[in-house]
Amino acid sequence: MAKQAISKSNKIVFFTGAGMSQESGLSTFRGRDGYWRKYDPMKLASPEAFRQDPKLVWDWYYDRRRAALQAKPNAGHVAIALLQNLKQVSVITQNVDDLHRAAGSRNIVELYGNLFKVRCTSCKYRGRIDDKFPPPPPKCEKCDSLLRPDIVWFGEELPKDSLEESARLCTDCDLMVIVGSSLQVAPANSLPVMAKRNGATLVEINVEATHMSEMMDYSIIGTAAGTLPALLDCS
Ligand code: NAD
Ligand code: ZN
Repeated sequence: MAKQAISKSNKIVFFTGAGMSQESGLSTFRGRDGYWRKYDPMKLASPEAFRQDPKLVWDWYYDRRRAALQAKPNAGHVAIALLQNLKQVSVITQNVDDLHRAAGSRNIVELYGNLFKVRCTSCKYRGRIDDKFPPPPPKCEKCDSLLRPDIVWFGEELPKDSLEESARLCTDCDLMVIVGSSLQVAPANSLPVMAKRNGATLVEINVEATHMSEMMDYSIIGTAAGTLPALLDCS
């Protein structure tokens, strides 16, 4: 059983996607009612879209940041954070909503960045968005150029350091739990493959089967908040 496998493991990596935060009230991308079923990602989340209409892109990220600010970690996020008391736990997340941190997880790799971080399109300035943020599109306080979300867009590469750190975690863990990801996007979806190749047991939690369910050791159909608390209760 998956629960026994988790109980026996010491180094556990959680690989999470948008479904992890669905029960916190945040939309997924490709799931039912997901963003990419309503909008064209190339018009909102690409360097070309930003060049063409920075305000439109910023408006969308402002809305998402507002939604993330109002969201609270769900029972799944909390269960993952609590497991740190018993196991060596890392989280590799495709989410940009900061909810793993809000739940108390400490070792987090954010593959695509974070909704609350910005960087300058010209200089090296990086910053964090606080409550008193100017109307979109914001300008750099150092050089007055446009700021952009510190998020990886379509057509852009994942930051080398987060990819390297993720690969290290995948080759070092003895079990990986994949939660709420459609596993459609490369190279992130190669991380479970890498973990499996290095001998890790794979547990998947999703409301439906994915194209990679067959390579999992355990594929659990259920929600993140609905399954993780009982599954991770190793006390
Ligand atoms: P996804 O929307 O593709 O998949 C979500 C998965 O969660 C689905 O398989 C769905 O069945 C499942 N799910 C839905 N509700 C669930 C629940 N309550 N519990 C468990 N599972 C549930 O999301 P993803 O896999 O995280 O996709 C990552 C991709 O999203 C990225 O590669 C990128 O394309 C995009 N993305 C874009 C941005 C951006 O702002 N531009 C940021 C991060 C990610
Ligand atoms: Zn600047």
